[in-house]
Amino acid sequence: MLANIGVTGLAVMGANLARNFARSGYTVAIHNRSVEKTDALLEAHGDEGSFVRTESLEQLVSSLEKPRRVLIMVKAGAPVDSVIDQLVPLLDEGDIVIDAGNSHFDDTRRREASLAEKGLHFVGVGVSGGEEGALLGPSIMPGGSRESYDALGPMLEKISAKYDGEPCCRWVGTDGAGHFVKMVHNGIEYADMQVIGEAFDLLRHAAGIEPCEQAAIFEEWNRTELSSYLIEITAEVLAQVDSKTGKPLVDVIVDSAGQKGTGRWTVISALELGSPVSGIAESVFARGLSSQRDQRAVAQGVLAAGTEDLGQLPADFVEDVRQALFASKLVSYAQGLDMLSSAAGHYNWDLKLDEIASLWRAGCIIRARLLDEIMKAYDGGEAPKNLLFAPTFSRVIADAVPAWRRVVSTAVRLGIPVPVFASSLSYYDGLRRDRLPAALTQGLRDYFGAHTYQRVGIEGTFHTLWSGDKTEIEAVDTH
Ligand code: NDP
Repeated sequence: MLANIGVTGLAVMGANLARNFARSGYTVAIHNRSVEKTDALLEAHGDEGSFVRTESLEQLVSSLEKPRRVLIMVKAGAPVDSVIDQLVPLLDEGDIVIDAGNSHFDDTRRREASLAEKGLHFVGVGVSGGEEGALLGPSIMPGGSRESYDALGPMLEKISAKYDGEPCCRWVGTDGAGHFVKMVHNGIEYADMQVIGEAFDLLRHAAGIEPCEQAAIFEEWNRTELSSYLIEITAEVLAQVDSKTGKPLVDVIVDSAGQKGTGRWTVISALELGSPVSGIAESVFARGLSSQRDQRAVAQGVLAAGTEDLGQLPADFVEDVRQALFASKLVSYAQGLDMLSSAAGHYNWDLKLDEIASLWRAGCIIRARLLDEIMKAYDGGEAPKNLLFAPTFSRVIADAVPAWRRVVSTAVRLGIPVPVFASSLSYYDGLRRDRLPAALTQGLRDYFGAHTYQRVGIEGTFHTLWSGDKTEIEAVDTH
């Protein structure tokens, strides 16, 4: 019997995706560079469904029905190219190669173009949900050609997470769109985790609330509009007591956050697009600063605090922090979605923000009640230019903004770093501002570099003769 799909790369993610396909009723041909992983999977889970054991890519390909679907789940980077190079000569026109790893979207664009020349489909698929999601139902963001989705989509939809019975899997756009959307999802995830960390730090060091008591607060917050997977697991992590020391686990974990790169990619890509994802960027930088442990150790002895004794915290400080957390989180989503809009224009993708929000409602790490509202904000009628302009959210944020300002100013006066709370508030204020000091920036650029400027209310491009008699002349547009 020919298999419906082949999976090569059977480490944690590949093995769990293969099992998910098999448990969903598909026959799955499995392959791994070293055969031990293939046998280990069959030994432990071979009875979960219909698997075809293969020892080589040749065997894998010849065991598949047509059009062949081969899903690659190997280490991102050069190994993906190496597997593609081995696969291509074995495939026929119309076959589909799927990369479901965390590949950079530029690599996916390159690979898609190269395989298209050979008559093959290459589909970059963003998968979120970690190990458990891969097995039980991840959020899936497929790119590649629309045509390839017809042959592949139903299978991916079947193994995906479901929200109210709807699959969290939809074709998002051509070539690298799927991996791009997954990358931005991860950027938002960085910001989401950082704002939770900032709230934790404020509750601990401004309000003196111990982690185990905070666990109850986060549990409570999880019953509000903040309801989300990350808030839910924050309560669990904060409640955990270290068996060796009896201290809260969070107090014995080294405070240096790791990163695998997708947050950094999001920021690099945002810089290239000119997209202001300040909350995501600050959360990546916050991880970087946390990792500079040598400098932090020196700083404690040489950098003055200059903090104030506030005497008393604002009344209902805990609720203020909750609102600041929600407002900052909302800004991160707004920035991420705005970045998707910029990318859609730049890469010629027809990204539908309501559909993308709908994919993130279950299965993935940033799943949250908020996403249902976000989906509705973009669904039907004229889409708002920025998520914050949707009436639901402009109202919510208007209610939260006084608390948000109190929290940021309290943090600043106490010397507690709140990079995402503060930068999100600055983004919000920057958006609202009638006139920005960018006018002065333009004046300075014209002074030292003759970069020219535009005038309010008069068409044209101008330059002031700064080193001459300072008269203004009409200049050739250098924009
Ligand atoms: P790893 O990233 O650890 O990769 C290990 C697998 O890659 C093994 O099957 C290994 O084979 C294979 N491999 C490595 N180099 C080559 C090569 N040159 N040729 C052929 N095969 C090779 O596995 P994961 O399961 O953790 O992740 C797979 C992908 O999924 C990655 O892109 C990852 O970023 C992404 N991802 C991971 C998530 C997670 O939670 N872990 C979540 C979402 C995505 P061998 O056994 O022979 O060494």
